[in-house]
Amino acid sequence: MTTNQDLFTTAQTLMPGGVNSPVRAFGSVGGTPVSMVEGNGPYLTDVEGKEYVDLVGSWGPALLGHSHPAVMDAVRATVEKGLGFGTSHPLESELAELVRSRVPGAEMIRMVSTGTEATMTAIRLARGATGKNLVVKFAGCYHGHSDGLLAAAGSGVATLGLPGSAGVTEAQAWETIVIEYNDREALETVFAEHSGNIAAVITEATPANMGVVAPEPGFNQLIRDLTAAHGALMIFDEVMTGFRITEAGYWGASGRNEGWTPDLFTFGKVIGGGLPTAALAGRRDVMEHLAPTGPVYHAGTLSGNPVAMAAGVATLNNATAGVYEHIDLKAQVVADGLAAALTDAGVDHTIQKVGSLFSLAFGTSATGVHNYAEAQAQESFRYGPFFHAMLEQGVYLPPSVFEAWFLSAAHDDAAVDRILQALPQAAQAAAD
Ligand code: PLP
Repeated sequence: MTTNQDLFTTAQTLMPGGVNSPVRAFGSVGGTPVSMVEGNGPYLTDVEGKEYVDLVGSWGPALLGHSHPAVMDAVRATVEKGLGFGTSHPLESELAELVRSRVPGAEMIRMVSTGTEATMTAIRLARGATGKNLVVKFAGCYHGHSDGLLAAAGSGVATLGLPGSAGVTEAQAWETIVIEYNDREALETVFAEHSGNIAAVITEATPANMGVVAPEPGFNQLIRDLTAAHGALMIFDEVMTGFRITEAGYWGASGRNEGWTPDLFTFGKVIGGGLPTAALAGRRDVMEHLAPTGPVYHAGTLSGNPVAMAAGVATLNNATAGVYEHIDLKAQVVADGLAAALTDAGVDHTIQKVGSLFSLAFGTSATGVHNYAEAQAQESFRYGPFFHAMLEQGVYLPPSVFEAWFLSAAHDDAAVDRILQALPQAAQAAAD
């Protein structure tokens, strides 16, 4: 039998770190990365035949669970007719209309292939539309790996403890101003000092790449007010939250009935139903700066690929109110079970939770986690033993304490019970 170790040993000779995306290498939790070969509903099966309850969900896309019949059927039916033609296709408008009908403010949409491409293009568009240079981002927010957005980023950059990335020149980085999340004063100061030069503020609608961090009441509104007042654009990165967080509706974390919309959105993950599709969307007058109607260039060989469009359309069509209610409920059950197990084991912690997205932060109960500095100050060394105790018992968690846990519509009572049963032993491992 081929083992996970065999595969990892070979992969390390072929790919840097044996992986195609850094966090998959298990660097912060140690041990051998698991090679998954099949996914059904809430379960994954690895190359050795071991089954796990999955709480990674392909890092977000698997809202309906793995191999959902409607998504698989739609993909099969599309594949039968060819893999892609590099032309227009009817499914592009179908997916765009689904986004527009659910997201107030998403007047026009451009499909791209990854979240990184969506945010990179949104930044270029903001600069092109405003004629200004500077971009403001928040420490710990991750917007993909385009050069200017890697400064103090979350996700794998946080997991690896990097200040940014080698290969990003000062010239590329200096036009990104990084401030602490939830810091109203810092935001006001930036606008006071650079008024007239700021093209955009980019923010995760609800940050979930330094663990989950809730925006303090009025923080997103302040971004909206300041950008509007200073002629800058507000880019709401909903790659993670879009069509997953239901706090405010089906569309993500925006539109919380506060009476405002961002200028631009970015989407990814759920919108592609598990295949490589993402999108930027927003105000018509801004979006029309994109080529071919405007001078801001963006193009993509695989943009709007029909197979990916089919997966996205089937996913959004099946993302009903019942699906979100189910995921919210199960997320609450798992989060409560997690808190109880850690408390019983005497492990200081907070559960950082917004809607169905949540994460765990060790040793933070005195302050909670409101920004990247607090997220980094946690006792992250406890996560490795916790993670491996769960893995051993057949629960696949994100291999980093800075990543959110993802439930799906397919996480039924049986799957949730398996998670709950595994938690006490893992909590004990975290305590030791
Ligand atoms: N923006 C956010 C909020 C994300 O969470 C991610 C990925 O996790 C990205 C952008 C980048 O997306 P991708 O990995 O598809 O390039």
